[in-house]
Amino acid sequence: MLTARRGDQPVGNGTLSGTSCRQCGRAPSRPGATVCPRCGIPFGGAPRDDVALPTCHICYATVGDDGLLPSLAGTGRGVPIADHLAEHDRYPVGDDDWLDTLRHGDRIRVGRWEAPFDIVRRYLVTGVFDAGRRRAIQHDAVVTAMSQLSRWGAGASSIVGDQADWREARDAISALMERFHRR
Ligand SMILES: [Zn+2]
Ligand SMILES: [Zn+2]
Repeated sequence: MLTARRGDQPVGNGTLSGTSCRQCGRAPSRPGATVCPRCGIPFGGAPRDDVALPTCHICYATVGDDGLLPSLAGTGRGVPIADHLAEHDRYPVGDDDWLDTLRHGDRIRVGRWEAPFDIVRRYLVTGVFDAGRRRAIQHDAVVTAMSQLSRWGAGASSIVGDQADWREARDAISALMERFHRR
């Protein structure tokens, strides 16, 4: 039986979005529920400090200690993870529909090579924000992953074996990056 009391004060910033769980993104399953049954913290309250803060699986951003991320709409407002995920409908990080066409299970085709999908997608998304040395390290990690996997794959001839191959692999991942972000 529902025993929602009138006059419950919304926790957090008082907006509708303030009512989701800032740890797991769950919305109250019934009116008047104030504590997330999964996480044991108040809806709209700060995330737990004894577990990892929630991370967006689309853009890999992690919420702040208050459980909020800057709104993708550029309003400067902080939004909880549930609202952030919904915002990606209007603010995608790249052309994921196209990227999925290159996907085979947990791998993705990159030029003549293949690599773990998760590693490649993370690079495509975060690599555009990371500059300099950090980006170069990520880039090399992707190319290395491409070379290691193709060693075991069907196309044994496509091992990244020499400087020309290495350069071509780098170009392939750069082209993928460019296409993913084309609007
Ligand atoms: Zn929760
Ligand atoms: Zn995100």
